[in-house]
Amino acid sequence: MEKKQVIILGSGPAGLTAAIYAKRAELDVLVLEKNTMSGGQVLNTYEVDNYPGLPGINGFDMGMKFREHADRLGVPFLSDEITEIERTKDGYVLRGNQGEYEGRALIVATGATHRHLGLEREEELTGRGVSYCATCDGAFFRGRDVAVIGGGDVAVEDAIFLARLCRKVYVVHRRDELRAAKSLQARLLSMENVEMVWNSVAKELTGDDLVDGLIVADTKTKETRRLEVDGVFVAVGILPNSSLALELADHDEGGYLRAGEDGVTSAPGLFVAGDVRTKPLRQIVTAVSDGANCITSVERYLER
Ligand code: NAP
Repeated sequence: MEKKQVIILGSGPAGLTAAIYAKRAELDVLVLEKNTMSGGQVLNTYEVDNYPGLPGINGFDMGMKFREHADRLGVPFLSDEITEIERTKDGYVLRGNQGEYEGRALIVATGATHRHLGLEREEELTGRGVSYCATCDGAFFRGRDVAVIGGGDVAVEDAIFLARLCRKVYVVHRRDELRAAKSLQARLLSMENVEMVWNSVAKELTGDDLVDGLIVADTKTKETRRLEVDGVFVAVGILPNSSLALELADHDEGGYLRAGEDGVTSAPGLFVAGDVRTKPLRQIVTAVSDGANCITSVERYLER
């Protein structure tokens, strides 16, 4: 088993940027990716309109561009599903379905997954009215009616953001009390074009090719109601893909690996970049920034 100076686990924007910076720093690097295609969550984003310099780029194209950049620098990639990470006296061994890989330093850039509602047509209509990111997709619903599902900080922030763009925003929450911070709640509830749909859960998405409505059911009376909306923003929490590293490094109660902007975790030689890190804003630009910062930290670590 050849030992690399640094292994990057994950090939979303954070992992790919780390790979580009690693190559430019002349580090011996290997990127391990679960899927055969790089890009992570970006691949499933219809259009990215908030990445500086590339307005309106298709998410798939963006993922490909990041990957092409890494390829041009000669970054080696390997597709394997890693099932175990072990800390050794001088680094980390990663075990996958295809083999074992060893690095003196490891960057975990495995991202996060939006919790889905589990509705029958949810996957099919994602990008066709169903979205998991208001700041990414909200602008496509300017002047239209939309629904936000959830009652946490993200749902309420999303609803406030959308209410500034959209004609009407329904907030569908399964209880009669929001979980979000009080200050956010006050701002939301003061907005004239917001209608709270309390004690309600989403039951069915309607529409042929594109969403044209959402059927919700009252949890108490079981009565159903159809909201005529073109967009359904699901904000019922996200799940970090951190299970492989939870026993190796400190994490918060949600499973995010604790680190500052430098990506340094509580475990020597283990760094974290992108959505799986504890951070206030999970976006492509912040993931890219993490990837770059991590390599500076890795260089410092390897020089010791
Ligand atoms: P969250 O706080 O876990 O809230 C998830 C919301 O979705 C809750 O209201 C929950 O309802 C609801 N929910 C969960 N599963 C559901 C389901 N299957 N069907 C319907 N509703 C469901 O998640 P989040 O809003 O994504 O926030 C994640 C973390 O980031 C939180 O710790 C949050 O405080 C933090 N954050 C902070 C800020 C800020 O400080 N400005 C901004 C954004 C995020 P219940 O309330 O009934 O459980």
